[in-house]
Amino acid sequence: VKAAHDSGAFTIRNVRLFDGNTISSPTSLFVDHGTIVSAPVGGDVIDGAGATVLPGFIDAHVHLDSGADLEVFARWGVTTVLDMGSDSRALIDNMRGIRGTTDVRSALSPATGGGGFAPSENPMAGQNVVHGVHDAERFVRERVAQKSDYIKIIIEDHSENDPHQLEPATIHALVSAAHEHGMLVVAHATSPQAMQLGIDANVDVLTHVPLRVEVTAAQIRQMKAKNIAIVPTLSMMQGLAAKFGMTEAVDSPGISTAQASVAAMRAEKVVIVAGTDANEASFAPFNPALGGSLHDELELLVGAGLSPVEALQSATALAAALFKLNDRGRIATGLRADLVLVDGDPTVDISITRRLRMVWIEGRRVL
Ligand SMILES: [Zn+2]
Repeated sequence: VKAAHDSGAFTIRNVRLFDGNTISSPTSLFVDHGTIVSAPVGGDVIDGAGATVLPGFIDAHVHLDSGADLEVFARWGVTTVLDMGSDSRALIDNMRGIRGTTDVRSALSPATGGGGFAPSENPMAGQNVVHGVHDAERFVRERVAQKSDYIKIIIEDHSENDPHQLEPATIHALVSAAHEHGMLVVAHATSPQAMQLGIDANVDVLTHVPLRVEVTAAQIRQMKAKNIAIVPTLSMMQGLAAKFGMTEAVDSPGISTAQASVAAMRAEKVVIVAGTDANEASFAPFNPALGGSLHDELELLVGAGLSPVEALQSATALAAALFKLNDRGRIATGLRADLVLVDGDPTVDISITRRLRMVWIEGRRVL
């Protein structure tokens, strides 16, 4: 006899179902041994009256530092996290594949030019320097050997003051090498100039969005034409805007500038995926809260003009499709039972994602 909360069978009945794309009227959802199934197989019956069941949320930009606690993400309904750069391969390896908590993917070390990015304090800078075009294949091969799930590249502005940035030709070489190895490329870029370097090099994903100036219409058209997705990390950008004193005043643009760029990307149908930059690193300029910030991000995306349904898609089906996580991000027969049950209808009011009643990861109750 299995414990009631074990990974056995259960049914949620009379529940609204957001399947990663659309919301349904009340129905029943069946789970058996960690997988969504099409017919009841017994076990517990949970009354979902008034509630909505959704796929577990995916945060497509976090940093797992030594203090990171996967169970915090899990309790917030964030059932998959995509680490976008960690200084410790051992840390990540130890966090991978643990049953019954948040599932981890990681870029491991990001490629840098060796400058900027708080090199003196940030252990990630310095140890991952790519020394030009000739060094790109070496970097990518090392990440593949270490089982990175995708390649992360730090693109910063070139300036006379800081010559230690990746050269455009090196960025191109990194993207080409990554694509030859079948790896997705995610590029950190916080200015229009850095974004343009990423666009020109055909990266797959840009992450962050500028605070000081809007992304241009031409850049957004190029992103759409090249099928480049955006993970804007509005939670981080809002924190930075506050830290650096950029208010909503006319002459000091802040998060509203970043949100205007996201709105323009939405209008051009650029793929927008939710990510927070959640981290607990002492050297980071801001620390979006693990797990909780995903709910902030959904609200910030709605503030940028996404509908609640679009925001929910960005943290479920769209995130899974972008990162080829084909076993999750949707509610469909045969997929992982990574599920979130919330009180109310978050397709009407996005803040309702915070009203978590239950969370399952591979069919195991974690809240
Ligand atoms: Zn980051």
